[in-house]
Amino acid sequence: MFSEKPWLRAAHLNPPASISRKHQRAGNWTHEVPPISEYFGELTFGLGQMREKLSKEAYQHLSKALDQGKKLTLETGEAIALVIKDWAVQTGATHFCHWFQPMTGMTAEKHDAFISIQHSHHSELTVIERFTGGQLIQGEPDASSFPSGGMRSTFEARGYTAWDPSSPLFIIDGEYGKTLCIPCVFFGYHGEALDNKTPLLRSAQILSQEAIHFLKTLGDLDAKSITATLGSEQEYFLIDIHHANARPDIVMTGKTLQGAPSPRGQQLEDHYFGAIPRRAKAFMEDLEYELYRLGVPVKTRHNEVAPSQYELAPIFESVNIAADHNTLTMETMKRVAGRHDLVCLLNEKPFAGINGSGKHCNWSMSNDKGENLLDPGTTPHQNLRFLAVMSVVLQAVHRHADVLRASIASPGNDHRLGGNEAPPAIISVFLGSMLDRIFNTIEKGEANQATEAQIINLGVGHIPNISKDYTDRNRTSPFAFTGNKFEFRAVGSSANVSVPMSILNAAVAESFRDATIRLKDLLAKKTNRDEAVMELVRALTIETKNIRFEGNNYSEAWRLEAKKRGLPILNTTAEALAVFHDTVATEFLVTTKVLTRPEIESRYHIAIERYNKTLEIELRTLVSLTQEFIIPALEAQLTASANTLALLKTPGAKTGQTDRLREMELVLEQTLKELSSLMAGLDTLTTTENELDHLKIIATQLTPIAAKLRESCDRAENYVAANLWPLPKYREMLFLNTIS
Ligand code: ADP
Ligand code: MG
Repeated sequence: MFSEKPWLRAAHLNPPASISRKHQRAGNWTHEVPPISEYFGELTFGLGQMREKLSKEAYQHLSKALDQGKKLTLETGEAIALVIKDWAVQTGATHFCHWFQPMTGMTAEKHDAFISIQHSHHSELTVIERFTGGQLIQGEPDASSFPSGGMRSTFEARGYTAWDPSSPLFIIDGEYGKTLCIPCVFFGYHGEALDNKTPLLRSAQILSQEAIHFLKTLGDLDAKSITATLGSEQEYFLIDIHHANARPDIVMTGKTLQGAPSPRGQQLEDHYFGAIPRRAKAFMEDLEYELYRLGVPVKTRHNEVAPSQYELAPIFESVNIAADHNTLTMETMKRVAGRHDLVCLLNEKPFAGINGSGKHCNWSMSNDKGENLLDPGTTPHQNLRFLAVMSVVLQAVHRHADVLRASIASPGNDHRLGGNEAPPAIISVFLGSMLDRIFNTIEKGEANQATEAQIINLGVGHIPNISKDYTDRNRTSPFAFTGNKFEFRAVGSSANVSVPMSILNAAVAESFRDATIRLKDLLAKKTNRDEAVMELVRALTIETKNIRFEGNNYSEAWRLEAKKRGLPILNTTAEALAVFHDTVATEFLVTTKVLTRPEIESRYHIAIERYNKTLEIELRTLVSLTQEFIIPALEAQLTASANTLALLKTPGAKTGQTDRLREMELVLEQTLKELSSLMAGLDTLTTTENELDHLKIIATQLTPIAAKLRESCDRAENYVAANLWPLPKYREMLFLNTIS
């Protein structure tokens, strides 16, 4: 019964006919594909179209509402709803939904048809398309099934979605119908945030406000608003759907829980930036076509380090739109993969022993003139502003390294961080040798004595002139400066970027607030503004020195050094989440109004609950995988081998086969032993009420047992004949697709 291996044939399947829809849908495109600019954003409706379609007055109302955070009047809402409905219905949408990001980390949607009934006097029903301002602006999904972390009791389980006009509406083109999606925030009856988007919007707003105060104090009198920008590089694996479907672990948990290493892993290092395999390329082209139509500015695609691993990166946008776009990208990846008989794995560590996937978050800030505040610039003033802003960011990361670490904590990321493939769980900042040198000279108060060509003596201000020609990279750093932006590399591939980005924005906003006060003090004492600014930069440089690290973050020496420096070392999710319970560590979130105390508390509970549930599902899946697949395969092999032993005549073969049987028995014994202790451990969970006790049992007792069980299951795989092994193997899953 085991010899049937549909996945072996499947992996060689040609891409199914449904792919390359752009070629298919417009036959005339087959040879002539139109330029991207012709269809970019064709499935979106944003402010540009609204300006075009709305009356001048209605658009002005909308703009005012956006700029000043005012409520839309129902009248304007009706006018907007009308133009949206006309466009959506013309584009073929039959339904609309409020699209939001509850704290599950996924997106949620509830669809409604555009139809409305008109009764004629003969009581015949006439259906018309209708969409009201009310339906656009606010929805009331039943919130009781979304996590609130204890913020609401079920009797007031009301939750509301509200349109976020700053993010464009879009249409999802399904197999048989189209749906208009309205990007929304999601909140409770008392205005408490029930989603990941609301805190992000709040954080972008406070960051702008505080940055403006600072820049004004610095002498940038005309600065009006600051936008946090984000470009997130998304890593992922592509696996044949037949392989995935034959593995209960992938189906249940999105990752493998067993799998002996294949003889070839990634040691040849030939996959990174190599030619993209045919099936993957077809997927990417199809995906990009979809994303362009949805207005997502995807820019780069390439192979990643591990076999069957790839990366996609967009052009950066303002953080709230980039966050929606990343979420939309992840959803579209999954949907398009299905059309290609592939499964897109976004888990941080789907395969043991080879690289996991991350999502580097490239982050910066720009002003309303489009100038990047983290760009060293060309004029002395820009240089000074750059140094000041850099030192403010250093202060933010230095102060809140623990909460930043907690913001990227997830069970999947635990397996990725620190495995010599992703930065360790210790947050530090890499500046690059030149900037590091500049900050070191500033610290010593010797900026004017520096001899480097890049640093010039401007006299009084001692302002170094910084060239932006950075070439050095440090792939081991969790938070690295890369020329004109920071790259937060510790973020996991499945994460909702809104979470770490709102924490980062809040930390930097608080740091700006603090720096403004200090700068004002210095200005009161000094007559020369530049000198006052340099003094602030110098003070911040000295205070934050501990967070800067230029060396190898993977080394044991760094771990010891970080400990000596007193940096937070939070190795696991279980340890990191406790930070959200620390009222001192999280106070800045309250003072910046990014999260209220109850909202932080609720997030803490939800994170623990998610950790517990995720791991419990993984552990239970491992149990059934062992019982239903691995032990029976081992038994079949033992029977076959024992039968062979009975037939053997030569003493040498008999001894060899007896040894082999004994080894197999030992593997079986070990497997049975670990299995039963895991099952006993899981039983204790059912009698443990307290979520923290739950987490402790899982993290400290069950996970180590599961690791041992996995180890013996992996050993079993090496003894069992290939035709008796019931699961697709690593070599099949990871390599068959990469053969072009
Ligand atoms: P790198 O080679 O350093 O990875 P890339 O130019 O390839 O740099 O950019 C990587 C990601 O960083 C892209 O998504 C890009 O849009 C983004 N990025 C570039 N500049 C900024 C910025 N100022 N703010 C935010 N993201 C940025
Ligand atoms: Mg990069």
